[in-house]
Order: sequence, then structure tokens, then C-alpha cells
Amino acid sequence: MLDNVVPLCYTIHRQDKRSGATRAKGEVEMSKHFIGMAGMRGCLPNMCDSYPTRGQAAESLGLVHELSGRQVKQLRRDGFLELNLAEKGNEICEIVECNCGDPDSHNDC
Ligand SMILES: [Zn+2]
Repeated sequence: MLDNVVPLCYTIHRQDKRSGATRAKGEVEMSKHFIGMAGMRGCLPNMCDSYPTRGQAAESLGLVHELSGRQVKQLRRDGFLELNLAEKGNEICEIVECNCGDPDSHNDC
């Protein structure tokens, strides 16, 4: 369970050392994560998972749904993308920011 968390922490600490000034920001971002979801409008998501960055959430949703580069960019920018239900099997995908202390809690639904 901790396997997902440790590398992220290392990355942040390494960046902090290099830039010097972003330490406080890095610490805030350690609890922040992004939840990538996909499913039908108005229903609980068919899939959801947590990611350390918005970009990774968009990439992952993009892979699952075979989205084009343009669609991944749009999803990353808007945090929301409508899908072709017949093609993709889901109606919408969405990325939301979360600050809870347990990112792994999102990985099971
Ligand atoms: Zn959370």
C-alpha cells in the first residue's frame, strides 16, 4: 500500500533540494492528489483511482479510453471530458482534486 507513496515523496524532496525555495509548496502538495474517474452521468463512477498529479490522472484515463492527445490535453485542462459512450463504454471522465489524508481510499471503487 505504501509502495505508491514512497517514490512520490522522494521525488518531491529531490526537487526541493534543487530549487531551494519550493519546500513549503512541496509539503502541501504531498497531501494533495487527483482522483481520475470515469462512468455514466449521474451515477457512481465505474472506475476511479488516485494520482499524484493532474497530468498522470489524465494520461491514465487517456490510456484506458484510448483518447487522442488532444482529448487528454482537454481533460487535463478542464478536469472533465465527454466520451462517446458507444466507443468508449463510459459517458464522461473527470479529474477532481482531493486533500484527504488517504489517497488509497479512492482506489477501490
Ligand atoms: Zn482523497
